[in-house]
Amino acid sequence: MQEYVIGVDIGGTKIATGLISKEGKLKQKVVLPTFAARGLNASLNQVYKSISDLLEISKVGKQAIKGIGVCAPGPLDPIKGIVHNPPNLAGWREVPLVSLIRKKFGKKTKLENDANAAGMAEVIWGAAKGYKHVFYVTVSTGIGTAVIINGKIFHGKNGMAGEGGHVTIDYNAKHAKCNCGNTGCIEALAAGPYTVKRLLRHLKENPRIKTNLVDMVDGELDKITMVTLGEAAREGDAFAIQTIEEEGKLLGIWLGSMVSVLDPEIIVIGGGVSLIGNILFKEIKKSMHAHTINIFANKTPVVQAKLKRDVGIFGAASVLIK
Ligand SMILES: [Zn+2]
Repeated sequence: MQEYVIGVDIGGTKIATGLISKEGKLKQKVVLPTFAARGLNASLNQVYKSISDLLEISKVGKQAIKGIGVCAPGPLDPIKGIVHNPPNLAGWREVPLVSLIRKKFGKKTKLENDANAAGMAEVIWGAAKGYKHVFYVTVSTGIGTAVIINGKIFHGKNGMAGEGGHVTIDYNAKHAKCNCGNTGCIEALAAGPYTVKRLLRHLKENPRIKTNLVDMVDGELDKITMVTLGEAAREGDAFAIQTIEEEGKLLGIWLGSMVSVLDPEIIVIGGGVSLIGNILFKEIKKSMHAHTINIFANKTPVVQAKLKRDVGIFGAASVLIK
């Protein structure tokens, strides 16, 4: 009998739930609105409904389900299976999500935060397959990381380890206030929105800069995103390339420190910003090698994540497979 794992990716606006085979094939997917503003009961019911709907639509018998993996917004405790108090889910306070789902569906259940889950998915089905010591990074609107040691996610004492995006690399950077309240975290210096902010600041300070970016958004500068920036860079726009190289340099400085601490076998970078590709990766590697004491760092592969679509579902499912 073919066995499956259910992956549930709970977000602030939608819940994506999928049926995944051990080989990493997504057989069926259900997406429901979270109804986050309606409070705990409403959003929790949507979680249950997404799982029941998936079982019904896919017509896979419950006996073929090995378990249910869930990734939810943090802060959460993956060891105890409790979601603490995520800012984007109204009414969620110390919710014992793992035991609630286990009782409801009678299946082994595990909870993980999204960056850790995405990192594990890369180990099982993606770019870090076959590696044991992995540092995973996702760069999008924020920067999330996962520390995987001996094939297992490192959780620390309270389940709070692996928040590499909130490592301070410039505590004097007044323009880099982070969402976590700290100043100068790598997230606040190099995640997508902050990179765009830095670009706009340069443009305002130096209106003579020549760039196609202004025409690409018909002069409406607040419409510039990392996607526009990536496009302009690929077309050879010098200012766009320079902005991306600066982001790569910052990421590399930070990764150099991470390599000094962890000495990983491989570094996998995912998230929307990683899709920019070679222009970014080239600079990351150069800067990383220059900012670490690890003499083997130039042999440590720094690669793009393999899983792009539905990475939340794959991540959630992967923590159950491992
Ligand atoms: Zn921070």
